[in-house]
Amino acid sequence: MRVFLACLLLALSPVGAWASDYYALTPQQIAPDTYVFIGALEGFDFDNHGAVANSGFIVSEKGVVVVDTGPSRLYGEAMRTAIAEVTDQPVVRVYITHAHADHFLGNNAFEDVPIAALPATEESIRSAGEDMASHLYDLVGAAMRGTAPVVPNETLALDAATSTRIDYGNHRLELIAAAGHSPADLMILDRTTGVLFAGDVVFNNRAPATPHGDIAGWQRALAAAGESGFRIVVPGHGPVAYDTAPLAQTADYLAWLKDRLQQAAARGESAAEVMFEPLSPRWAALAVQPAEYRRSVSYLYPALERATLDPSQD
Ligand SMILES: [Zn+2]
Repeated sequence: MRVFLACLLLALSPVGAWASDYYALTPQQIAPDTYVFIGALEGFDFDNHGAVANSGFIVSEKGVVVVDTGPSRLYGEAMRTAIAEVTDQPVVRVYITHAHADHFLGNNAFEDVPIAALPATEESIRSAGEDMASHLYDLVGAAMRGTAPVVPNETLALDAATSTRIDYGNHRLELIAAAGHSPADLMILDRTTGVLFAGDVVFNNRAPATPHGDIAGWQRALAAAGESGFRIVVPGHGPVAYDTAPLAQTADYLAWLKDRLQQAAARGESAAEVMFEPLSPRWAALAVQPAEYRRSVSYLYPALERATLDPSQD
């Protein structure tokens, strides 16, 4: 009977698979009450099941605050299981840093919780979430089963470059609105521990992904992160750091990228020529290179070429 019930439950399970089949999420404690799940320093593939971004959570006496939900329903479920092994506190809020598939498609597993995001993040998930999910299905396959884009249901009405405070027990959080990596980038600073969840404003030892990037805005966001007074930074991708080195690395890479593309456009090079120029060892050593550099050229170069032909546009 027990076996029969187990089989029945498996058959009725909406996804027909267990999160643990795909994701072994071990929370890494980085500060009091503060844990992260570190993603693979890779692009999306069938082996990493899309778990390439970092996510995390803070345990307060008023409940658990989650930052980003990963690439799939099963990843989100694996997060909840891992959180429940650390604390009995319920999850009381989820913050989504930005509308990229590797950061929010685990929302399915948090539909019983308020999911908060900046207005442009909400809008982007509403309008493009289906496309992002189906694109990720193509790249990572079965781990995505049962995943559908869940639009955040709580709007953080913050203009870019402003912030607001919210307390969870003795954890005093500052929500910092920025833009640059994407049209809306939320950073969360826990003033109690000094931990900054920087989302994809900050990359560490992994080439920054720029498809929706505005480099000038991104540099301003990095400056805001630097001025926030954090002690520990959780980048969107790459290891946690205890200094500002990943901010400097991201800023330097973006400045180098913009400069290289502008110079190539001024010389009249084609996108294909720029794309296959070798990278200096400094940048070639970052994870996901040269793939990420080539992706940056394909997204950013056409606009730079146009701006070079007509300097009145920038
Ligand atoms: Zn990301």
